[in-house]
Amino acid sequence: MKKILIVMLSMISCLAFAETKKMDINHAINRVDVDKKVIALTFDDGPDGNCLKYAKLFKDAGAKATFFVKGNNIEKKPEIVKALHEAGMEIGNHSYTHAKQPALGYDKALEETFKTQEIVKKTIGSEPKVYRAPYLSYDASLWKILTEFQLPAINASSSTSDWNKETTAEQIYERAAVNRKAGDIILMHSWRNETLEVMPKIIKTLKDDGFKLVTVSELLAMSKKPLCKDVTVEISADVE
Ligand SMILES: [Zn+2]
Repeated sequence: MKKILIVMLSMISCLAFAETKKMDINHAINRVDVDKKVIALTFDDGPDGNCLKYAKLFKDAGAKATFFVKGNNIEKKPEIVKALHEAGMEIGNHSYTHAKQPALGYDKALEETFKTQEIVKKTIGSEPKVYRAPYLSYDASLWKILTEFQLPAINASSSTSDWNKETTAEQIYERAAVNRKAGDIILMHSWRNETLEVMPKIIKTLKDDGFKLVTVSELLAMSKKPLCKDVTVEISADVE
């Protein structure tokens, strides 16, 4: 006789489970342990007027990048998000208003996440698969929301601090391109003109060092280790 058993297993969840089981999103990813020489360049706060220039630079170099965009910006410039997507770039969720999400409380933060997922879907036909919190600021409510949406939280192994006007173009270049390691995630801002200015040099140095520039989702898919911490997963099993 067939019995249905509900087995509670404490196990490591990983992306392999993502399609059938919920990952418990409870920490941000700074870098990814990979075998291949790959790096993910990421740009926050768009879409903005510089984005199409980035798209051309990356496309011409046979490279990809990820743009964490704000929902309220997409409403103003949907054609830019569409062009980024068509150039092979990944579109990530960076909230709707860019407010510090923990200050908003669960309901508002949920609305911000949902609205941006929906606007991106309306614009390019698919929802973002990765999330970056404004100011890299998380709390228990946001972890719950990201788990509900199954959106991995992406921080960075190198923050170029290009948001700071005192950071020079040379510093941005060094922090993004010098002595980088496989699996690195580099955080930059598309609106910063100095970042755009040194991007050809950043791309060249990384390529000369043998790195392939991939999207964040491609990087996550190459991870050697599970991306989540211990989590209890409920598994239904048919047992004879
Ligand atoms: Zn931001």
